[in-house]
Amino acid sequence: MSGAGGSGGDGLPPLREVIATHGLAARKSLGQNFLFDLNLTGRIARRVGDLAGSDVLEIGPGPGGLTRALLTEGARKVVAIERDARCLPALAEIAAAYPGRLEVIEGDALGVDPLPLLTPPIRIAANLPYNVGTELLVRWLTPAVWPPFWESMTLMFQREVAERIVAAPGSKAYGRLSLLAQWRCNARIAFEIPARAFTPAPKVTSAVVHLERLAEPRFPADAAVLSRVVALAFGQRRKMLRASLRPLGDAETLLAAAGIPATERAEQVSLEGFCRLARLVAERDASR
Ligand code: SAM
Repeated sequence: MSGAGGSGGDGLPPLREVIATHGLAARKSLGQNFLFDLNLTGRIARRVGDLAGSDVLEIGPGPGGLTRALLTEGARKVVAIERDARCLPALAEIAAAYPGRLEVIEGDALGVDPLPLLTPPIRIAANLPYNVGTELLVRWLTPAVWPPFWESMTLMFQREVAERIVAAPGSKAYGRLSLLAQWRCNARIAFEIPARAFTPAPKVTSAVVHLERLAEPRFPADAAVLSRVVALAFGQRRKMLRASLRPLGDAETLLAAAGIPATERAEQVSLEGFCRLARLVAERDASR
């Protein structure tokens, strides 16, 4: 059987049985909503990209549904960080079924460095715990140097967060996360997953987002300056830019030079417009 709740042909027991054997009742405090449907975990794994030629960093494997799919679909190696020690025996069974291809780190993904265990090219895949998902994404999108350690990220979010990542100017969802993601990645919603697919079912629909990193940012800009300009603009997103950007000094002059009407609001400005503005701010600051 290869469908919902089946064993997936890897000789391992069905996930529902794994949960029962190891007493893995889901804990809300750890953002635990498990996926048992092998059709879905397989679909997520196949969206990751070239698995056979990559190491995969997985965050929050839990009982290992997605982990098993990544391995069945041919991942060269999976390094998985899991905070809940109760899941380790179930993950050890998977490691035994795929010798040398799964390493599990017990710990908090926000505090552990998995890089010594990974060989490039590296892809990130996760059904992320909602409580840490956005923080991890922002960290992965803002490394000290670009390109980052990863080639792509295939991540599950609440649909509302997924929509913020891929949003275009003019939409309510457009904001700092959209600009951060789209400046240096191609970001797409791959597909949605209904709440009923999870155990327990969360209150909202989820979506899988796939981000492919670009070798260079889409438009040139200094990361710190761009981040400051975008933070100011969206810090008061209902205000006109001439007001929200006042802390920059010379806001109206800068906006005019960038070809952006001073009466526009942040959500009307394109990524290219923000990058132009950031370059002008950096040039002005350098000449002071
Ligand atoms: N990947 C599994 C699946 O798809 O069924 C479980 C996904 S569940 C939404 C999130 C998982 O992340 C849980 O196993 C939880 O224990 C783990 N987790 C929560 N916070 C974490 C953290 N800070 N670091 C690492 N894992 C964490």
